[in-house]
Amino acid sequence: MARQIVIGLEVHLQLLTKTKLFCSCSAEYIGHTPNSNVCPICLAVPGTLPLLNDGAVALASRLGLGLHCTIQNYSTFGRKNYFYADLAKAYQITQYELPVATKGYLDIELGGASKRVRIHHLHLEEDAGKLVHPTADGRLTGAAYSLVDYNRGGVPLSEVVSEPDMSSPAEAKEYVMRLRQLARYLDVSDGEMESGSLRVDANISLTNADGTLGTRVEIKNMNSLKALERALEYEISRQNKVLDSGGRIVQETRLWDDAEGVTRSMRNKETASDYRYYPEMDLAPIVISDSEIEGYRQSMPELPQEKRLRFAQSFGLSGEEIAILTEQKALADYYEATVSAGAPTARAANWIRMEVLRVLNELGQDISEFRVKPDALAGLVKKIEQGDISSTIGKDLLDLMAREDLTLDEAVKRLGAPQGRLSGDALRELASRIVSSQPDVAETIKNGLDKKGGKIKFLQGLVMKEARGQADPNEVAGCLSELLGS
Ligand SMILES: [Zn+2]
Repeated sequence: MARQIVIGLEVHLQLLTKTKLFCSCSAEYIGHTPNSNVCPICLAVPGTLPLLNDGAVALASRLGLGLHCTIQNYSTFGRKNYFYADLAKAYQITQYELPVATKGYLDIELGGASKRVRIHHLHLEEDAGKLVHPTADGRLTGAAYSLVDYNRGGVPLSEVVSEPDMSSPAEAKEYVMRLRQLARYLDVSDGEMESGSLRVDANISLTNADGTLGTRVEIKNMNSLKALERALEYEISRQNKVLDSGGRIVQETRLWDDAEGVTRSMRNKETASDYRYYPEMDLAPIVISDSEIEGYRQSMPELPQEKRLRFAQSFGLSGEEIAILTEQKALADYYEATVSAGAPTARAANWIRMEVLRVLNELGQDISEFRVKPDALAGLVKKIEQGDISSTIGKDLLDLMAREDLTLDEAVKRLGAPQGRLSGDALRELASRIVSSQPDVAETIKNGLDKKGGKIKFLQGLVMKEARGQADPNEVAGCLSELLGS
């Protein structure tokens, strides 16, 4: 029997508070002068006392509710001891015995099938500082000395610990994507893996021949979803090879080396006793009343999964369209506002998915910066739906509106596009002008020498082009045959 893959993830999300978890220093650390956002508390000067940031508790509670967890009325902080230069106190304040939220789940979807990943718990903790290793090639080993920046020390994190319910790297990636989306919908974290505001530690093992759980290995240092997937794939293959050759998996922590595409042993995995957890006596327990929890519940926005379901029911869109439109809350809001402004649901979905996202991508903007507001897009989409302008013209108009901040009317004027479809006298006039501009071609047709019809098609093409596609091809053909007696 093939060995089953068993994956559990620990995801650290940096909470979007202005200040750190236990002091009033700014929680921003990227792009700041090293050691500029620090104070005696986060530098662990003896005699200082931590003071809990209530905002972080509120954000962690919201995330817990989004993950269908039970929010605990009473939870506590502890000290996790480890000695490393990035940790000023030589212990980290974290929640260990009684975390703020327990037992929830997150549903993921892969290949049309839904799977429920159970959440063991979610807890609050402070981040450590950052060591800077000044080697030329940026590798973690071989530096003669290290520098430390404590700006990140004390920044609030929420760690979401899953049960080992994932059974492939693709499921693990999907889980992180859904968790990140949830955190963004709830304004709990920006969830940027590249900048480190979302970090994933993966626990992976292969089952033994008798189906029991094998020894698990923890992998760290994946800086992107792609890296997470690659690291897990590498580790599955490595563990299979070890077991195939009769070896034994060692319980350890391994670091992913993205450049080399391998994991390397960092240290034997610590167990809880290595950390000598003990209660944090300087902080009172976190007490959250039922009415506070109810308040958080009332303030929850529609969750991504609920939104996807509603979009399917209300707008009759396909699964793929819904996935794209609801990926970001702001884009889903934009779509709904466009439909509210009168745009037909299917065409609005198609235009946002294909054209709005294309223009945003070209301009390097996100939807909040987009100059074409929903009612303007609705106006454009309605004109296309009614056949007043072609899709091709519509794209040109959207480009102009987005790039030059024009209204629809201004863009139409700028483009010189006809206000509506050409027909009747206006179309006859245009056809006549085209015929006059091509006397040789006209003569050939009049003399009955356009046997294969290529010349008349050529003239039809010119008329359609001049009309910017906004004429009925049959009516164009009729006008030309009238003029040329063909
Ligand atoms: Zn501080």
